[in-house]
Amino acid sequence: MPEIKIIGAGLAGSEAALYLADKGWKVQLYEMRPKKMTPAHQTGYLAELVCSNSFKSTLLDSPSGLLKEELHLLGSKLLPIAESCNISAGHSLTVDRKIFAEYVTNNIIQHPNIEFINEEITIFPQA
Ligand SMILES: Cc1cc2nc3c(=O)[nH]c(=O)nc-3n(C[C@H](O)[C@H](O)[C@H](O)COP(=O)(O)OP(=O)(O)OC[C@H]3O[C@@H](n4cnc5c(N)ncnc54)[C@H](O)[C@@H]3O)c2cc1C
Repeated sequence: MPEIKIIGAGLAGSEAALYLADKGWKVQLYEMRPKKMTPAHQTGYLAELVCSNSFKSTLLDSPSGLLKEELHLLGSKLLPIAESCNISAGHSLTVDRKIFAEYVTNNIIQHPNIEFINEEITIFPQA
């Protein structure tokens, strides 16, 4: 099976890496933080939430609730992690951002199919 290279371990890259790795693909995941920070991120954690710590409503009659249900059906890896660190008492999925990012980071670092490479990509890696 060919190796998949993913550049950037924000929310999108982390979700893609865990999803593909759980399907048996070998993934190389490149992330430049904390060696090189962005203007928005503040930590070296993967899947850092740069803004609100709320994933908004869980109600199925709301757009954000429906989106989350669709993500579940599609096998999202980050959503169950977010739910495991939910701090909201109401109808919203609101997480402790540090615990969420630590959880995602640990899942990625420990995954046998993911090679995590802490480097900035300046030239697109060859296949
Ligand atoms: C101030 C601010 C407020 C925001 N508010 C909201 C909001 O309320 N709701 C919302 O949904 N979205 C908001 N966003 C957008 C938010 O950034 C995205 O929702 C989310 O972070 C996107 O995730 P991502 O994985 O696509 O990108 P990012 O989280 O940006 O992840 C990209 C990753 O790639 C890494 N990277 C980049 N270039 C390289 C390279 N060359 N080599 C190696 N690694 C690299 C970065 O370090 C980073 O970790 C906000 C953004 C900002 C800046």
